[in-house]
Amino acid sequence: MILVTGGAGYIGSHTCVALLQAGYEVLVLDNFCNSKAESLHRVASITGKAVPLVQGDVRDRDLLREVFGTHAIDGVIHFAGLKAVGESVEKPLTYYDTNVSGSVVLTEVMAEFGIQMLVFSSSATVYGDPVNLPIREDFPVGATNPYGRSKLMVEQIYTDVANSDKAWRIALLRYFNPVGAHVSGAMGEDPNGIPSNLMPYISQVAVGRREQLTVFGNDYPTVDGTGVRDYIHVMDLAEGHVRALAWLKNQTGAHVFNLGTGRGYSVLEMVRAFELVSGRPVPYLISPRRAGDVAEVYADSSKAERELDWKATRDIEVMCRDTWNWQKQNPQGYPD
Ligand code: NAD
Ligand code: UDP
Repeated sequence: MILVTGGAGYIGSHTCVALLQAGYEVLVLDNFCNSKAESLHRVASITGKAVPLVQGDVRDRDLLREVFGTHAIDGVIHFAGLKAVGESVEKPLTYYDTNVSGSVVLTEVMAEFGIQMLVFSSSATVYGDPVNLPIREDFPVGATNPYGRSKLMVEQIYTDVANSDKAWRIALLRYFNPVGAHVSGAMGEDPNGIPSNLMPYISQVAVGRREQLTVFGNDYPTVDGTGVRDYIHVMDLAEGHVRALAWLKNQTGAHVFNLGTGRGYSVLEMVRAFELVSGRPVPYLISPRRAGDVAEVYADSSKAERELDWKATRDIEVMCRDTWNWQKQNPQGYPD
């Protein structure tokens, strides 16, 4: 059985689908601070399998002891954390507590129970402004905000932990820009309030929930002046976790992998692709750059392809189609 912390969230819920379809049993731990239980009902209806849930906080040591003491857990995928860059600048301690202390408590309890296989959600944000493109795992790291630094700290902690005891097998997955939704349209990204990420913003404009997109800067040294990112379909990402788990069985140590497509798209290319797929206009306004943004980010994911036998297969059209399918069927996101 795999313990999935943060399993009710966007990437966690899609990963639960991929795990269940690959024959794993899952147990979700989530405090629903940024998700709803409905996402897990959708996982169950898509897969036809039960999704047992423990509602609680990953920092709650006693609860974790109870979880590990009462379930036959073989490994953990650790998604639980906070991810809003702007909020992390306002509330750094909340971010370090949840993301860093949460990971430490979880890992201590895992060690107590002799469970030493872990997949961790890291981020391409740890590369800051990349020195070159495409970005390889051995490039210098250096985050520019508390969120990114919390990810970097946890990566460093896991590397030290793996060096201290060879029984640990840890995959540190650096996600590029996850987008898209399950092909059924029954599951997708359901941000609270005004989306801070591009894709959910575009799809809320297309469905009529918001008037227009604000494009943050058109004076970057890119194809059309707007920011370029490596968007990856959330189901490709989910399948990457399943591959990482299988691979870890025969490994020891901590290992970093980029999970991206290797191809960058500009903001305006994303807008056009979405308009084409949805048949809806996505009006936009160009505004100044957003603080902390970099011009261009895309991955070299050849290490994951080589080692994990994993490669993203869903293209930009599928990413837009699946997002639109979810948005149309669930214009207000998941019900309460
Ligand atoms: P999400 O907010 O949808 O999912 C996170 C889940 O963790 C939520 O269900 C939330 O309720 C839960 N959670 C948060 N704090 C918790 C706590 N203390 N105890 C128990 N549960 C808690 O976010 P997501 O997009 O699915 O991201 C999952 C992970 O991937 C996060 O660690 C995030 O930092 C990382 N990541 C996300 C992206 C992205 O763009 N979405 C990119 C790179 C890395
Ligand atoms: N972006 C934008 N308008 C928005 C949200 C994002 O122009 O409302 C741009 C942003 O400047 C970046 C790209 O879209 O170039 C992806 O941003 P997002 O926040 O989705 O991901 P990031 O790469 O910053 O983690």
